[in-house]
Amino acid sequence: MRDLMQDWEMRVSRIIDHAAKYHGNRPITSRTVEGPIETTNWREVRDDALKVSQGLVGLGVKPGEPIGVMAWNTARHLKVWYGVSGSGAVLHTLNPRLSGDQLVYIINHAEDTMLMVDFDLSAVIAPIVDRLETVKKIIIMTDREHMPDNIQGAICFEDWIAEQDGDFDWVEGSERDACGICYTSGTTGNPKGVVYTHRSNVLHALAASSPDVLNMTSRDTLMPVVPLFHANGWSIAYTAPMNGAAMVMPGRDMTPAGIYEMLEHGVTFTAAVPTIWLGMLQYLKETGKTFSTLSRVVIGGSSCPRAVIEAFQDNYGVRVFHAWGMTETSPLGTTSSFKPEIEVLSDKEKVDVQTSVGHPPFSVDLRITDDEGNELEWDGQTQGRLWIRGPGVVKQYLKKGEDATVGGNWFDTGDVATMDENAYVRITDRSKDVIKSGGEWISSIDMENAAVAHPGVAEAAAIGIPHPKWDERPILVIVKAPDADPDPAEIVELASEGLAKWQRPDDVVFMDELPHTATGKISKLHLRQQLEKMDYKLPEFRG
Ligand code: ADP
Repeated sequence: MRDLMQDWEMRVSRIIDHAAKYHGNRPITSRTVEGPIETTNWREVRDDALKVSQGLVGLGVKPGEPIGVMAWNTARHLKVWYGVSGSGAVLHTLNPRLSGDQLVYIINHAEDTMLMVDFDLSAVIAPIVDRLETVKKIIIMTDREHMPDNIQGAICFEDWIAEQDGDFDWVEGSERDACGICYTSGTTGNPKGVVYTHRSNVLHALAASSPDVLNMTSRDTLMPVVPLFHANGWSIAYTAPMNGAAMVMPGRDMTPAGIYEMLEHGVTFTAAVPTIWLGMLQYLKETGKTFSTLSRVVIGGSSCPRAVIEAFQDNYGVRVFHAWGMTETSPLGTTSSFKPEIEVLSDKEKVDVQTSVGHPPFSVDLRITDDEGNELEWDGQTQGRLWIRGPGVVKQYLKKGEDATVGGNWFDTGDVATMDENAYVRITDRSKDVIKSGGEWISSIDMENAAVAHPGVAEAAAIGIPHPKWDERPILVIVKAPDADPDPAEIVELASEGLAKWQRPDDVVFMDELPHTATGKISKLHLRQQLEKMDYKLPEFRG
């Protein structure tokens, strides 16, 4: 029988059309990069996004052309977000925390023809502008008053938008056209480009909004603390308008006080990496403040310590959803919502489940295998490589040529995990960070999460040090909490809870700070290099 249903290309412009038409007045409160807090709504975001599209087409932008966008989380960024993809161009989100060399590499590699940049970030672009091979125009996302003078010939966003009448239709195309590009942060080697399609973004956002994942509704007010340039912005710029949620955009002030102030603008639901929340919980403790409206928080990007989950839930009544994902997976892969098998457990057991990263929604398929590719049992114990496939998962990296998957679209996440009988996934390590001792694996994530439960510990990294007999031995590198002087023996005790004797860390090394990647994760690669430079030796080998 013939297909008798409508052709309705899944383009992301349909998401903003829906939000503007059916939830047009929903407020979007934004801390502007210029300073003041302003309020707009989905209708106005769409109106201005149309002007952005019209302006880009007027500047000669052609479908499929990549445009680099480097901006904080603001309402203006949302207008650019939909304006770029609505013009048929490809939205290439740029992380301002990358080094100049990395930015040059990815902008040239993606062949961005234009950049759109927040005015304070022109300072990041100005020093590298001469090395950008394909960029022809730079638009500074501000008004005339705040235009910087460090980039010659730059266009002023607000002046440019004011010249457009908005009498424009989104540029049409296939749902399989490229829609966005995001580079992995390149903890090993050069960053790799992941190219999302309109279809992958729409399908992923539908899955991510569903009740057992984000449960996004028009009654929510959502604040993404996670930057829109990190891993497809965790899809929040799609899921919020798709469901008619209100939004609060925190701007560039990422201090706990700055984030708290914006959360108090009626936010019910927020999202960020664990380090942000460690800082926030410290701030709440010091100031005695509590949340007036916040009820849910999604935490992912790296493992969320049990202490953070308990503090949010027990002290502030905010439910934690621990999630796992990757730039390569659009990004959401799993969330720790409760299945009925979990609902009946005790409170303590439920928190145990929340320290796992949860289970996948429809459109995400997972498996764990040994190194030979044999599937492993879901017993909650057996660790193996975690593989993923689905319509929101990378097939090939940009310009890499070869397939990034094997055996029917399976993508190797590079993570090591267990799965239990309810299909809850527990990430125990990244394969390159695994600590191997005497032929067994020691989970660096478990050890780190246990160590940060010590009140004197601000941050912890477990790392394997080469050992002639045991391959590697674990040590803990610790950053002390402000004004604290924790006892190393106490930290070892805490971090060894539930571990066998041979798994206990051999040493505690204190450092003033740990090296981080551009997405705020501890960079074990750099930490290993630092320890080598210090000529670090395990206690048993010291003279
Ligand atoms: P990058 O690889 O550039 O750092 P990604 O955000 O794509 O940036 O990182 C994805 C990786 O982050 C995953 O493969 C995994 O190792 C780690 N990760 C993400 N969420 C979690 C989590 N909840 N628990 C443990 N690790 C996580």
